[in-house]
Amino acid sequence: MESHIHMHDDVQRLSTNRLKGKVAVITGGARGIGAATAKLFAENGANVVIADILEDLGSSLADSIGGRYIYCDVANEADVESAINLALAWKGKLDIMFNNAGIAGHDGSIANLDMEKAKQLFSVNVNGNLHGIKHAAKAMIEGRNGGCIICTASSAAIMGGLGSHTYTLSKAAIVGLMKSTACELGVHGIRINCISPHGVPSEMLVSAYRRIMGKVDVKPEEVGKIVGESGSLLRGRYASVEDVAQAALFLASEESAGFITAHNLVIDGGYTSANSNMA
Ligand code: NAD
Repeated sequence: MESHIHMHDDVQRLSTNRLKGKVAVITGGARGIGAATAKLFAENGANVVIADILEDLGSSLADSIGGRYIYCDVANEADVESAINLALAWKGKLDIMFNNAGIAGHDGSIANLDMEKAKQLFSVNVNGNLHGIKHAAKAMIEGRNGGCIICTASSAAIMGGLGSHTYTLSKAAIVGLMKSTACELGVHGIRINCISPHGVPSEMLVSAYRRIMGKVDVKPEEVGKIVGESGSLLRGRYASVEDVAQAALFLASEESAGFITAHNLVIDGGYTSANSNMA
């Protein structure tokens, strides 16, 4: 009986305030996975800075969760530095950096690769993470209180055929960078991990399907249905933005992930680990 009561207490303890008093910066936090994570972090007691290029969405979300918004193009190092400086000026510290901003690629054949387009994609997906890790590490090392950095990679980081070549390269690069910097930052008590979602019908994925299907009116639910049928071992089930936000919360919380660093947490309904045709 007593153990049952404890179990109940644990469930309650885990469900709220897991990030009480923590200060988080979320790039790409205005929409999609980043917005769901901003809400969940705030519900769990975090003070959240939303750093995004979408001013209207970003500032109204920040207002609704008692956070702050700052215009930030992650391709621009000074913008990322300013986002972190805002957190430091606001609350005096940075505990959590979520490098989530990213864009899809549209390469076509590798034989006809447009290098200018490739560089633009790398400037957001790769340099954006470099900027975020660099300035978060600086703030966290100076803060002398550890910290947690999370980078959004993708199922495309570990498997071909799930995005454009340049997108795949950029996401694999993020996993490599995460592991490399984890080796340096561990001594400062700074954990760094990736999350790798698959098949979340966010604006990014839905607009990719609009292009592939040649239709402008494709709905997120339609994309979810396709992904749930062909891209998940949990047939009919596909990832929501909240599923990914929960994984970010798990990694951000010292309670649940205090001994987890240099890890790539895949949120894919098993897709990249097994042949879904055999399920
Ligand atoms: P989304 O397009 O809804 O959200 C992306 C957010 O990033 C938007 O708010 C956008 O304004 C912002 N952003 C884009 N470029 C930016 C820049 N230069 N500077 C700052 N912010 C910028 O898509 P999403 O699915 O929520 O994507 C979030 C992350 O998840 C991305 O890194 C994406 O690659 C990754 N991801 C998504 C899926 C999926 O299935 N949706 C799968 C794997 C990985």
